[in-house]
Parts: sequence; C-alpha cells; structure tokens
Amino acid sequence: MANVERLREALYPLLNEVEVVGIDEVQFFDAEILPLAVELIALGKRVIVAGLDTTFAAEPFGPVPDLMAIADTVTKLSAVCMVCGAAAIHTQRLGQSQELVMVGATGMYEARCRAHFRPFLDEHASEQLELGGELSGSTRGAAAGGSRAG
Ligand SMILES: [Zn+2]
Repeated sequence: MANVERLREALYPLLNEVEVVGIDEVQFFDAEILPLAVELIALGKRVIVAGLDTTFAAEPFGPVPDLMAIADTVTKLSAVCMVCGAAAIHTQRLGQSQELVMVGATGMYEARCRAHFRPFLDEHASEQLELGGELSGSTRGAAAGGSRAG
C-alpha cells in the first residue's frame, strides 16, 4: 500500500499552483486517501482518481469503493477479454500467488469477461497459462542473445 502521508507531504507545497489533482493506480493507496481527497475538494481542488475497483479475487480493491461512493461522478471502464473479446471487468491473475499485489508482474495479469474469469486457477491450468505467456517470450530472448554471443 502506498503511503498517503508521503503523498500529502509532496503535494501540499505545490497546492497553490494546482487546480486539478490526478492520482493514478489509486487502489494501491491506504485508507487515508479518502480524507485527503475530501480535504482537497474542500480546498476547491478538482480531484480525479483512476484505479482498479476489484482485485484478482474479484473483491473490492482498497480505498476505491469508498472513493467511488463519495465521487460526484464515476466512469466505470472495461477492458477487452483476452479469451473472447467481450467487455472485460475482471483481472485474471495467471499464477498461484495469493498476495494482493504483485508489483512489476507484467504478463501475470489478463483482462477477462465474467464468463472467462477464474479467480482461483488450479495448479495445472496456471502452469499452462504461464508457459504460453511471458515466460516463453523471455526464454526466446535469452536464446537469441546466446546465439549472437557465440
Ligand atoms: Zn471472455
């Protein structure tokens, strides 16, 4: 979870110069982001936040549900399902970890529609998905580098 106090310390010296505060990946902030947003709005700032509303387990993600509740407007976007191309509202994790956040885990997540979302993959399916994705790409890269060296 990102520390809201650090954000506040970085933001407040600049406040007189800004009208709009934008925060991306807001799901990673702790619960103190909510009172900070309320405070900024009370100071006349426009606050725009973006983030995932649900985790890989399809549960509400951090402070996002509370922020949605107090927002003037909420725009809920969807991605494209990587299996069928339909509107995707879920984040499919392609691995076994049950940690809430895997930082820098490019290739470990896929957008999925409700029909193709599997919140808890069995071990076998997970191995197949990982071999078909990022892992095989990096193996090819290493092989190419090796042949150039030889
Ligand atoms: Zn689908």
